This record gives sequence, C-alpha cells and structure tokens, in this order.
Amino acid sequence: MIPGRRGDHTQNMADADRAAAQLLTQGPDTGVERAAALADLAPGIDPSLEFRQTVLPGLFFADPRPTLAHGEIGLPVASMASGVGGMGIHWGTACPRPQQSERIPFIPDDSLDAALDHAEQLLRVTKVEDGTGLTAALRKVMADEFDGPGLAPVEFGASATHWAGDQLVFSGTSVILGELEQTVPGFELRAETLARRVLVEDGTAVGAELQDRRSGAVYQVRAARVVVCADGLRTPQVLFASGIRPRALGHYLNEHLQMNSFLLLNDEFDPAGYPVDDKNLAGVRIPFSDARPMQGGVVAMANSPYSLQLDDDLATARLAVVAWYAAKDIQFGDAVEFSDTETDFYGMPKMTIRYSHTPKDLATIESMRKNSVRSASRIGALTEEPILAVGGSSLHYQGTVRMGAWDDGESVCDSYLRVWEVDHLYVGGNGVIPTTTAANPTLTMVALAWRAANQLVQELDGTEGIVGATAK
Ligand SMILES: Cc1cc2nc3c(=O)[nH]c(=O)nc-3n(C[C@H](O)[C@H](O)[C@H](O)COP(=O)(O)OP(=O)(O)OC[C@H]3O[C@@H](n4cnc5c(N)ncnc54)[C@H](O)[C@@H]3O)c2cc1C
Repeated sequence: MIPGRRGDHTQNMADADRAAAQLLTQGPDTGVERAAALADLAPGIDPSLEFRQTVLPGLFFADPRPTLAHGEIGLPVASMASGVGGMGIHWGTACPRPQQSERIPFIPDDSLDAALDHAEQLLRVTKVEDGTGLTAALRKVMADEFDGPGLAPVEFGASATHWAGDQLVFSGTSVILGELEQTVPGFELRAETLARRVLVEDGTAVGAELQDRRSGAVYQVRAARVVVCADGLRTPQVLFASGIRPRALGHYLNEHLQMNSFLLLNDEFDPAGYPVDDKNLAGVRIPFSDARPMQGGVVAMANSPYSLQLDDDLATARLAVVAWYAAKDIQFGDAVEFSDTETDFYGMPKMTIRYSHTPKDLATIESMRKNSVRSASRIGALTEEPILAVGGSSLHYQGTVRMGAWDDGESVCDSYLRVWEVDHLYVGGNGVIPTTTAANPTLTMVALAWRAANQLVQELDGTEGIVGATAK
C-alpha cells in the first residue's frame, strides 16, 4: 500500500517512503528499479538526465517499442501511473493558466475564468507577485529578453504548493479528496479495483463492470451517472472496451513538444550571492502566446523544493534548467488506438500510439531550440546542446476524449464533459482538452471537471447516486 494519507504527494514524504511509493505505482513495472526499466526502451533512445529523473520513477510505459509506419515517431516514453492518486501524487505542481488560443473558444470567458479560479483554490495554488531573491533576478532578465507587444508577460510560476508553518506542502490528489471519505455517506474509494467497462443499456450508461485485482472477482455497480477519469490514455481505453467508439475517440492525441536543458548559472546569478527567499520558490514562466506558441520555464535548482536525485557532476549549487514546452500541430492521425484481440497487463485492450511531426512542428522545434539557447545564454552556459525530449516525455496527453461545441465527429464530449450519444456518461482528465496548448494542463482539466461537476449536481438533483452493487 502507498505510504501516508491517500493521494498525498510523494514530495511530502520522507525519502524512503517516496521511493517506496514510486515503486508501487509502476503498474507492470511495480518494484522495478530505474536502471532495469531503462532496458525496456526502444533501441536508439538515449534518455536525458531530466528524463531519467522525472519520467521513470513511479510511472510505466504505454507503448515503449512502437511499430512505426512511414514518417511516424510514436511516443515511446508515453507513461502512466497506477494507484490511488495516479500521476497526481508525483506531479511537478506547475499551474499556469491557459492563455489566448489555449483557452477553449466555446466556453464563455466568465465561465472558464470562474472555473479556473475555483481550480486554483481546490489545488491550493500559490501565486507569487514579487520577490527579492534569485528568482526575481531571473524574472527580470527573462522579461527583458522575452516580453513584447501581444505577448503574455513573463511571470513567477504559479504552483500547487503552500506553506504550513515552515514546511512547503505539495498538493497531491488528496487535496481534491479532502475529507470526502470520512464525511460523505456513501462515498467509497475502492483501491486495487479495475474499471473494465461501462455498462450501457438502451444508449444510457447505467453502471460499470469492476474487478477486484486482489481476488480477481468481477462484479457490477449500477449508478445514476458514470464518470470515467482514467488518464489521457486510459479514459479512451475504458470507453473502447465498453463498445463506445465515437469517430474521434483516441484521436487528436496532443502531447507537448518538450526541450529541457541544464545550464550552469554565471557569476551574476550565483545563488550564493542572493538572499534566500523561501516564499518564492516557483521559478520563472514565459507564458504561451499566439505569437510565440510555446511556454518557457527557468528554475535554479538551488531554489527548487522539488527533490531530484542528481548525478554528482551536476549536483552543483549553480545548476539551473530551462524547460520549454511547445504547442503541437494537432492532427486526426495522432492517436492512441486499441486492439480488439490483444490485451495489456491489466487485461484491457492493448494500446498502439500513432504519432508524427508535421512540417509546422519541425519549425516549432527549431524555434524552441533557439528560445532554449536565448533563455540560457542570458543567465549562464548550457551543459549540453538543447535536444527535443523523447516523444511522451511531457506526460501531458490531451485531446483523446476532446470536447467540442457540437457532435460533428471531431469530438467525444460536450463542454460539460457529457459523452455524445450516451446518456449519463461523463469523461474527465487531460484528454478532454481540445485546443493546441503549451501550458501544463492539470489546472485547466481540474477547472473543466469542476465546471462539469456543478452541472452534473444540478442534473442529479432529486435522483440517487450509486443505487446498488451486484456480484457477477
Ligand atoms: C513527474 C510528473 C510531473 C508532472 N508535472 C506536472 C506539472 O508541473 N503541471 C501539470 O499541470 N501537470 C504535471 N504532470 C501531469 C499531471 O500529473 C497530470 O496532468 C494529472 O495527474 C492527470 O490527472 P488524471 O486524473 O487525468 O490522470 P492520473 O493522475 O494519472 O490518474 C489516473 C488514474 O486512473 C487510474 N486508472 C486508469 N485506468 C483505470 C481503470 N481501467 N480502472 C481503474 N482505475 C484506472 C490510474 O490508476 C490512476 O489512479 C506531471 C506528471 C508527472 C508524473
């Protein structure tokens, strides 16, 4: 069992508990140390240090040795976490708001803003307006380099962390669960339970078929409403397994192009020369803008509260990272597909990921490389040339159950996350985000879930929730 409170962030744990929790959420790789998991990668992939530190612990690969059609690159390191809290107990907590065309055009601005406000409260996001330390100095120089007309201004990065006394607390899934288990009659969280399929009768979702993974017992739960939130790759998997296969299911898979580069800060930004500003640890963000469809982040590792186990030669006080995410040119053919005949470790339809770069993507990657060099050269010297991270590295998989303004075959659900053509069925998670984005998606997807949940509550008013469970 994962140590600590259900859904607590692993960064709040002691080192030994964090390592134990990471080993437990790796699905088929449970208990497998990083070095062994690396052997699972497709040939030719030379994972960067950043990749080894942030992708592997706690996660497992969806399709690590893809069979590639001509021109495809696949997403060999697309990853997932299994266990209570999912990736939400491992995440980096960066919570940028979507900017300009990242926002969803068919949700009214006031409605989206209210949902984002609420999501920030739920996730306990801290936003820093000013600062005195190194982060403030880095922000100033990045603003000088990257601010301009029509561009969202450089800012301190908002993060889902808060101070409790002198301890910085990372928001894990437990901040969403709150006291629900203890205080809400009828609420039950069943760990070690696989959702095999949604039960659909006469075009209406009426419950789910579940499996107790300890005993193997399969049983059904009937419900007035069914919500599937099984991450960006596995939500479409559950729908597929249920025979719910709208044209767009799994398509328009949208992963951020990513380029993270380490650098050594120059004398001007030597952390030793700055006062410690404990209240401003988040780093600097260069937000997405339509005129620059990518997001940059600058973090001095000496200031970062996120624990990484770095190799000795890099564990210097002057180490910093410039991290760029760029918007993918989304296309129908980028997709997670599922097999009708083969199954995965959990007995669910086996995934295959189809993914390729368009000419526009190649141009975006080139300008991301230039921005990586620009951002790094203002503050220090890169330790290596910026390289595009292996496909899947961003851990942000969007679009696979995307929302749409209407049911035109290009989307899976409406803006309240109701699946087209199946009554009483909802989806959630990053897969619902339909726009091309560079912002880390969790804040947006929590906002969209909160907005949908409000609507669902209104619809449910006067009806009962779970109405019974039967063994099969
Ligand atoms: C190291 C790391 C750093 C990250 N940093 C950031 C960041 O800074 N900012 C940001 O916005 N995002 C970040 N992310 C991504 C963020 O964690 C995800 O956006 C978020 O957790 C997605 O939530 P989700 O509920 O869709 O999926 P998850 O959190 O992955 O949860 C999915 C859950 O579904 C369960 N599940 C799947 N299939 C089934 C099934 N058939 N039956 C039963 N259960 C099932 C899984 O076990 C899991 O518990 C990061 C992720 C990682 C791993």
